Amino acid sequence: MLAILLPILAVTIGLIIALIFKPAVNNGVKLLLSFSGAFLLSVLIFEFLPEVYGDAPENIGVFVMAGLLLQILLEFTSKGAEHGHVHHSDEKTFPWLLFLSLCVHAIVEGFPLSQHQSLLYGVVIHKIPIAIILTAFFFNSALSKSKSIVLLTIFALMTPLGSYIHSHISYLQNYSQYVSAFVVGVLLHVSTTILFESSKNHQFNASKLAVIGLGILIAYFL
Ligand SMILES: [Zn+2]
Ligand SMILES: [Zn+2]
Repeated sequence: MLAILLPILAVTIGLIIALIFKPAVNNGVKLLLSFSGAFLLSVLIFEFLPEVYGDAPENIGVFVMAGLLLQILLEFTSKGAEHGHVHHSDEKTFPWLLFLSLCVHAIVEGFPLSQHQSLLYGVVIHKIPIAIILTAFFFNSALSKSKSIVLLTIFALMTPLGSYIHSHISYLQNYSQYVSAFVVGVLLHVSTTILFESSKNHQFNASKLAVIGLGILIAYFL
């Protein structure tokens, strides 16, 4: 149940933040993004990876790699929207490919969430800055407000849909360890990229370092 509600709540929070703090959003969102990247990566390393690899079949690593590759492919069309590079666009055509790849990512990351509580928190936290960025992008684009809301709603439903699909298709259930490994690959790529990009030009940034440390600590004690 939480796996259905929390991801929707995350997108709603992102939407509200984007609507309230419109112009001042930039620096705060970057910090939130760094925090979410560190938190998600820590959850993966501290809890999810050991679980997936614990008495795992020999070829489990292949699935982690496959997930990583899927994320690399998705980012060709999403242009890195998962880590906050949606650019303001005046084009009349809506970037459907970008939206589609974000949705595929969101469905896939929803698969293991009903069985993995801490991963659920990791994904939910990671969704908030993405939702903020996506909302700001939609409202600045040529899309009407109602269309933007519809698209955001679709996006919000994707991760719960993934959880639902996974718990209702017995085929996926039987291979849930492989599915989890695949999702590890997807999320490893996203979270490390967010962290990597958060230290542009390798400049020292105390507040960023602080939120990254905080993300790691909270995930450790979760
Ligand atoms: Zn990026
Ligand atoms: Zn994600």
